[in-house]
Amino acid sequence: MWVVILPAMLTTVTAGPYTIRGISVGGVYTSIAVPELGIVFDAGASPRSSSAVDTILLSHGHVDHIGALPALLGIRALVGKTRPPRVVMPVEIVDDLTAALAALSKLQRFALDIEPIGMAPGDEVALRGDLRIRAVRTFHPVPSLAYLVVRRVAKLKNELLGLPGPEIAARRRAGEDVTDYDERTELAYATDTLVSVLDHSPELLRARVLIVECTFLDQRKTLEAARAGCHIHLDELIERAERFENEHIVMMHVSQIYRPDEVAGILDARVPPALRRRIIPFVPDGTSWPG
Ligand SMILES: [Zn+2]
Ligand SMILES: [Zn+2]
Repeated sequence: MWVVILPAMLTTVTAGPYTIRGISVGGVYTSIAVPELGIVFDAGASPRSSSAVDTILLSHGHVDHIGALPALLGIRALVGKTRPPRVVMPVEIVDDLTAALAALSKLQRFALDIEPIGMAPGDEVALRGDLRIRAVRTFHPVPSLAYLVVRRVAKLKNELLGLPGPEIAARRRAGEDVTDYDERTELAYATDTLVSVLDHSPELLRARVLIVECTFLDQRKTLEAARAGCHIHLDELIERAERFENEHIVMMHVSQIYRPDEVAGILDARVPPALRRRIIPFVPDGTSWPG
């Protein structure tokens, strides 16, 4: 008797304090949830487990990244969510996306409502507690963004350190601004972009966890061809190996021209050990991609 083992639909990896769960095949579909932060990056697939998340961050409008948004909104109603989710996206695509959802709502006879939040590079929106989401410019043929999850921690201004507490309290009462902020990028997500995003926004290289596209891994696709499609090739990450300060790098959006079970071996053979140790390939177990 034949036993067919189907690959699990979702991939789950752990990167530091974060669970990274979803599905990502370059050009096919990408949707990745980080449950600890209550966010989903992109909606190219609609896993049931992501449907209750209240903040969805869209990198751009290509269908492998937004095609399943209506399904995700529909499932949301089934799990008892009545408030529309916040959907953060490049400001240029807000009108088209809301018009598309309005047309689909008519077909569905059910309102597929969202709270749209259009962002330009540098814009921020509150996430929860001391966490904020900041948009970063990426380089793709359509309007596109990367996102940082930044923790802002209030601290006493340097020049006031060492002053007695009552003195600081008195200054605060007198209206003096005694607070400075430390920033730490907890997580960053950058996909569907030329690698130059890392040069323009080096804060990505300092994020505690970096989720980054690496669509092409070897000479099966040339560097030139990868660049022509505005995608990242592993050669370009290797070139920058010394610059990554991240604790963990989750590599996603891998092309289906590679089998999932050969990805780790390609990385072992090609990536310098100090960088390789920190890379977590976001691919399913087994020899084939889901679906
Ligand atoms: Zn894509
Ligand atoms: Zn794209």
